[in-house]
Amino acid sequence: MALGEFDLIEKYFRPPVQRAALGGGDDCALLVPTPGMQLAVSTDLLVEGRHFLSTVAPDRLGHKALAVNLSDLAACGAEPLAFTLALSLPRADAAFLAPFASGLLALAEQHEIELVGGDTTAGPLTIGITVIGEVPEGLALLRSGAAPGDELWVSGCLGDARLALEVFRGHAELPGDAFSAVREAMERPQPRVALGQALRGVASAAIDLSDGLLGDLGHIRRRSGVGATVWLDALPRSAALAAQPQALQRECLLAGGDDYELLFTAPAGAADAVRAAGLASGTPVTRIGRIEPLAIGLKVFAEAHGREPLDLSAFAGFDHFKP
Ligand code: ADP
Ligand code: MG
Repeated sequence: MALGEFDLIEKYFRPPVQRAALGGGDDCALLVPTPGMQLAVSTDLLVEGRHFLSTVAPDRLGHKALAVNLSDLAACGAEPLAFTLALSLPRADAAFLAPFASGLLALAEQHEIELVGGDTTAGPLTIGITVIGEVPEGLALLRSGAAPGDELWVSGCLGDARLALEVFRGHAELPGDAFSAVREAMERPQPRVALGQALRGVASAAIDLSDGLLGDLGHIRRRSGVGATVWLDALPRSAALAAQPQALQRECLLAGGDDYELLFTAPAGAADAVRAAGLASGTPVTRIGRIEPLAIGLKVFAEAHGREPLDLSAFAGFDHFKP
């Protein structure tokens, strides 16, 4: 049975709130910022066919839509507070809405972030989420803080989401259990929210990896005005990816996209503090290179003491408006 717009919102997207002074149902939600904190706000849009395959299970889609937004809060070192949900739906179909809402709200509960409003309209399936978090004044992690001599770090493993996509496209093959694991990385990324907060005051710059390592490292480089060297053999990868041909491994590691790991820099003297932040947040962290003076540009070496940098012309960061 098709639901009306307001029944649909009541039924699926009006969970009770505790932290917000007022959740959905009025013209605005009301939040109570903690004194001394700055609000961190970010929006990400997911469009069917562009950001997700139409075959993805609705509960996973709900999870991922919020996860990619939480990942932006993580990259700023912010603590999640509240989010809004703008939803364009072809039909008010309970078989989609019930699992979508449960995947979404399960992740919300895990990170104690509250759904406080949104907008709902008929149209092509599109999910826009705005997240609001808070971070102590002056402690937000920015893209602009990297300096020559800093070390370059990454959380987790890179490239699994891209490997899963290549299997879907028929360009790679994996045994069933390895495929389930990389598909999990693609469809149910776990945003590094605890690590981001643990890196406050430790990392000098940070970004979350959504468009591939080289592209996102480019954002840190531009905002910080620095160069960088990356060591290919240091890039953390799953056993499934490590078993793939070298060219595919490189593509997945350097330009994979959809990793939702944190890429960050820290002064060389802070390496122990970085490892402690990784331990405290239960997140693996790996050193993958170094920040250089701007004139060095970007160089990727096969290993830490390599002489000849790789040719990077094949790896452009993902850009929706470039052909
Ligand atoms: P308005 O027309 O004043 O913008 P709406 O009729 O669009 O209000 O929405 C009614 C209430 O339902 C608002 O409080 C809004 O925040 C909430 N709402 C609408 N869509 C969603 C959604 N997808 N998720 C959560 N809350 C929603
Ligand atoms: Mg509205």
